[in-house]
Amino acid sequence: MIKGVIFDLDNTLIDFVKMKDLAIEAAINYMIDAGLNMDKEEIKKEIYKIYEEKGIEYQEVFQDFLLKKFGEIDYKILAAGIVGYRRAKDFSLVPYPHTEYTLLELIKRGLKLAVISDAPKLQAYLRLCYLGFLNYFDCVVAYEDTKKKKPDPEPFLLVLKKLNLEPKEVIMVGDWRERDIIGAKLVGIKTAFARYGDTFNTKESNADYELNDIIEIIKIVDELNKKR
Ligand SMILES: [Mg+2]
Repeated sequence: MIKGVIFDLDNTLIDFVKMKDLAIEAAINYMIDAGLNMDKEEIKKEIYKIYEEKGIEYQEVFQDFLLKKFGEIDYKILAAGIVGYRRAKDFSLVPYPHTEYTLLELIKRGLKLAVISDAPKLQAYLRLCYLGFLNYFDCVVAYEDTKKKKPDPEPFLLVLKKLNLEPKEVIMVGDWRERDIIGAKLVGIKTAFARYGDTFNTKESNADYELNDIIEIIKIVDELNKKR
């Protein structure tokens, strides 16, 4: 009997890559309008290079970029970049189609819902708040909770403990084969690969199920629970 569904956050509930791209694009346009005289593509490359070095959650990417490029921070340009980023983020941080419906259907069936994210806790909660999903989840496990990233078993075991469920009673939904799918399998949890969020061109997901749309998880859970 499936009694709980665990979701990864980025590229499973939210199209994070698209949000980031749109936000950076807007930031660049705002900075150019504030006087930044540089080729757009070159700015983009420099910014993503900083993300590669410091991690995609790094919060001072524009400061670093300006310092690196000009040896000092032009605050007019920095302010423009931050506002452009925030404005684009506000409207582009949205869930994949049918996500809210899917979560509500699962809740109506009495299932417990959880999130496991490798993102810092505040960033994970901010994203859930933007999505309007703050109260949909029985537990959210983010990086600080175990200081371990998927596929380490610890975040998975912590969620099971918090939900008070056995591995065979839950299913994990995620877009990242090496982290979400392999991690869940290591502790004996069934897996569904979020093919719709795949940004790695994953050939073989090794998951028990593949989702082309998040809504398909409802049917999978219904089928699994009917068999019993
Ligand atoms: Mg992900």
